Amino acid sequence: MILPNSWLGLLGGGQLGKMFAIKAQQIGYKVMVIDPNEDSPAKGVATEWICADYTDKAALEIMSSKCVAVTTEFENVPFESLEFLGDRIFVSPNQQAVRIIQDRILEKEFLVSNGLNTVPFVSLRKFDDLKSTLITDSLFPGLLKLSRFGYDGKGQIRVTEYKELKKAFESFDGKACVFEKEVKLRKEISVVLVRGKNGKKINYPLAENKHQNGILDTSIVPAKVEESTHQEAIKITEQIAESLNYIGVICVEFFVSNSGELLVNEIAPRPHNSGHYTLDACSVCQFEQQVRAMCNLPLAPVFLNSPAAVMVNLLGEIWNEGEPNWSVLLNSPSVNLHLYGKKEARKGRKMGHFTVLADQLDIAVATAKSIRRSLSESGVR
Ligand code: AMP
Repeated sequence: MILPNSWLGLLGGGQLGKMFAIKAQQIGYKVMVIDPNEDSPAKGVATEWICADYTDKAALEIMSSKCVAVTTEFENVPFESLEFLGDRIFVSPNQQAVRIIQDRILEKEFLVSNGLNTVPFVSLRKFDDLKSTLITDSLFPGLLKLSRFGYDGKGQIRVTEYKELKKAFESFDGKACVFEKEVKLRKEISVVLVRGKNGKKINYPLAENKHQNGILDTSIVPAKVEESTHQEAIKITEQIAESLNYIGVICVEFFVSNSGELLVNEIAPRPHNSGHYTLDACSVCQFEQQVRAMCNLPLAPVFLNSPAAVMVNLLGEIWNEGEPNWSVLLNSPSVNLHLYGKKEARKGRKMGHFTVLADQLDIAVATAKSIRRSLSESGVR
C-alpha cells in the first residue's frame, strides 16, 4: 500500500489530470505533473509542476526518482516514456495496455482476438493495402480514422465510395488508418470500471452518451438500455480489463446498433469524460478510484447518490459572445458546475461541464436543456 505523503507522478495536466491531482491530494498524496503546456489546468493544483515534453529524459528521471507510482491522463503519451518509468516505478495503467489502446489497429485486433464485436473494419497500414479485397462495397459509407493521435472525432474523414477513400488516405499521407463502416446507431453507451491490484473489479452505472460532431455532448445516467445489454456491456468491460491485466480506471465505449447489437467502439485507459458525472452523483468518483487502484488501497463501493444524473460538456463556443450567463445555473442547487480554468475558449475545446442531479431522468434531462439555454441568454454575465 502506498501511504499518504508519498509522491504520485502524472503525465498530462489537462482537466482529467487536474481532477486526479485534487483527489490524490485530498487523500494526502503529493502529485508531480509533467506537461509541456504552461497553461495546463493541473498547474495550479499540482504539488510540483514540471513544464517539459513527455519524452524529456531529465524530467522523467526526476519523476522516477521522487515518485513511487505514476499514471497518465491521456492515451497518446509516448510509449517509450511509460516504458522508461515502468522500468523504475509502478505504472498504472500498464505500458502494454496503453500501447494497444493508443493505436486503433492494435486496439481493434485486440478486440477481435478476444472474440468481441466491433464495427466491420479494414486496417490500412500502407498504400498497397488499398488493394485489399476486404474493402468491399458493404463498408461504404464509412469512416477513415487515423490509427494514432485521433481524439474527439479529429483525424477522421467520412467517405462514401472507394475513390474518396483513396483520396482521404492520401490526405493522411498514407499514415496507418482503420477504415470502418458507418453503422446506424440506436445508442452510444459507456462503462467506467476500476480494477485493483488483487483483480477485484467495480463498475459504475452505465452512461448513455450523445455526441455532437464527434465530441461528447451529454451523458445520461443511468443509461436506458435493456437489462441484457447492460449486463453484456459490463461483462465485456470486465473481460477487457482482465485481458489487459489492467490496474486502474478504464472506460469502454460501445455502440448499440439499430439491430440492438453491442459493438465495442473504443477503450480509454484512464478516467473518462463520460464518467465525470461520478464526481457529483456517486459515493466515490472515478478519479479517487484511480488513486485507490494505483496506491493499492481497497476500491470503494460505488452507488448512485441521486437516482438520475445528466452531465453536459461546456465547449469553447459557449464563450463566443463573452462570458456565459451563469446566474440560472448557479442559482440551481441541484446543478454542479466544474470549470477547468483553461485560458482560451476555442471551438470544440472542453472548458468545463455541469451535472444535474434529479429524482427522475426526464426531469434531469429537461433541467439540463434549460440550463444550457440559459447560458447564452442575455442578462448579468
Ligand atoms: P470515435 O472518436 O471513433 O469514438 O468517434 C467519435 C464519434 O463519432 C462516436 O462516438 C460516434 O458518435 C461517431 N462514430 C464514430 N465511428 C462511427 C461509426 N463507425 N459508425 C457510426 N458512428 C460513428
